[in-house]
Amino acid sequence: MTAGDADTVRGRVLRTVGGVYHVHAGHETLECSLRGRLKREGEHGKVAVGDEVEVELIQGGGCAINAVLPRGNKLSRRSADGRREQIIAANVDQLAAVFSVARPEPDYELLDRFLLLAESNELPAFLVVNKLDLSSLESAGEQFGVYEAAGYEIAYTSAIEGMGVDSLRERLADHITLFVGPSGVGKSSLLNAIQPGLGLRVGEVSRALQAGRHTTVAASLHPLDVGGYVVDTPGLRQLRFWEVEHRDLGWCFPEFRAHLGACRFSDCAHVKEPGCAVRRAVDAESIALSRYKSYLAICQESEAQRSY
Ligand code: GDP
Ligand code: ZN
Repeated sequence: MTAGDADTVRGRVLRTVGGVYHVHAGHETLECSLRGRLKREGEHGKVAVGDEVEVELIQGGGCAINAVLPRGNKLSRRSADGRREQIIAANVDQLAAVFSVARPEPDYELLDRFLLLAESNELPAFLVVNKLDLSSLESAGEQFGVYEAAGYEIAYTSAIEGMGVDSLRERLADHITLFVGPSGVGKSSLLNAIQPGLGLRVGEVSRALQAGRHTTVAASLHPLDVGGYVVDTPGLRQLRFWEVEHRDLGWCFPEFRAHLGACRFSDCAHVKEPGCAVRRAVDAESIALSRYKSYLAICQESEAQRSY
């Protein structure tokens, strides 16, 4: 069947709710089932949020996904037991790590983990630093200067005062952007400012999460009028277990890269090895100690996971 057939349409999977796939096609959202063949392929579902799909409009009502178009990429993490791959979303273009200057104070190690998620999936990432109304551009620049030095762009915003919202909207246009960040930094407020009428309830997500430890809140896509989608991932508050090969971890910290070739041992893990160029750079303060500490913490975890 081709896209030209009267009874099929193309669309993008926005979310799944109890086995029903919500597919954005044109200006409407279709609630679709899966054709049996797609159910069988792959234990964890062949169809992911963000996938572009072909939907068959069934005579007499209803619709079913009958094909998945080739995926550009998939963003995944490891399951809590470290054994399974969980697809967060497919076809993500970029990652926006949202933090606030205060209330809550930035958790830099968590930020480093989000950036690692992007780097290990070869996804461009940028920072959104919100609640600038509580601070000044100068002191926010100092807070996040390490990241600017590491090569990440930073969008400074205040959802409440509308500052930086237009330029953030431009960065999101025609992209599929994963919005990550701890609760309370203003993700819902920013998205509502970017797309009035989106109707995300401020504070809603965190309350839902507190309701039960076992509630997994899956990713969902929000279509933007400027084109593209924002991927909201309430389940991605904490990141612990990484599907990153140990030897690649250093590469996932962009400011380490220039030093990686200069270690005495080619398989240097940059922990205790003599002649380590990364540790030399940390001593010389050309790599920030905070970033190196995040590296060590993540290194240890990934070691622990491997002996599982
Ligand atoms: P989320 O959990 O990341 O989605 O954050 P919310 O959008 O729910 O916002 C959490 C709290 O921060 C709410 O009380 C918002 O009113 C407040 N907030 C959001 N953006 C800003 C901002 O730019 N400045 C200030 N001062 N408060 C903000
Ligand atoms: Zn080294």
